[in-house]
Amino acid sequence: MFDSHLHTRFSTDSMMVITEALKKAEELNIGLVITEHMDIDYPVPEKFIFDKYAYFNEYSKYRNDKLLLGVELGLKTNCVEENRALTEKYPFDFVLGSVHLVDNMDLFGDEFYKGKTKHEAYTRYLEYMLECLKEHDFIDSLGHIDYITRYARYGDTEMYYKEFADYIDEVLRLAAHRGISLEINTRRFENEKAVKNLETIYKRFYELGGRTVTTGSDAHIKSYVGRNIKDAFEMAERCNLKPVYFKERKPEYMK
Ligand SMILES: [Zn+2]
Ligand SMILES: [Zn+2]
Repeated sequence: MFDSHLHTRFSTDSMMVITEALKKAEELNIGLVITEHMDIDYPVPEKFIFDKYAYFNEYSKYRNDKLLLGVELGLKTNCVEENRALTEKYPFDFVLGSVHLVDNMDLFGDEFYKGKTKHEAYTRYLEYMLECLKEHDFIDSLGHIDYITRYARYGDTEMYYKEFADYIDEVLRLAAHRGISLEINTRRFENEKAVKNLETIYKRFYELGGRTVTTGSDAHIKSYVGRNIKDAFEMAERCNLKPVYFKERKPEYMK
């Protein structure tokens, strides 16, 4: 099994040392694909970008069949060509594409939600994700489709499939059509309601032609490495989806 989403100290929001992550992975007997944050044109300069040369230089010695080097690429409609060039220039094993900002506002902050009802905010989020996916045909997997639920400023932040079916379907259909995997991000797997709702979305992904998923903890600290990966693996099986990880940009099946 692989945890295909974690951040070490090349991500500006993580202090995790690679050897610590490796120790934890060994304890759990899983492989890792590191996915450092790269959000080109983030509104705060220097935030969420890293030195690719230093990354490959420093981590090449750890690279093997069970430790792969990827990137979590921030999807935005205003830097598609820069994003594409980056994935072509550097030898990443895996490119995870994630929406962290919508209309240049970080979903982590207040600004995006101001003056919007939950319905307005979530539909704009999904519309924007679709716009990004249309242009980023070169990503391997689409990260945390439920990202907005982590930070939205509403009483119940769950993104219910039924309520946003039309928008969610468009995203799933396009990913399936392009052969892009969907990530099962285990960050909210402690929350039963979230798990139930996510399973509906992954089942729908299969119905719309999706076949593969990547599994990731989104760990920024050692104790979260590999967290709930087995549950993600089991969810994939219940949805008929094949869990994969990427090596040299090609999917490998997990067992
Ligand atoms: Zn992310
Ligand atoms: Zn992440």
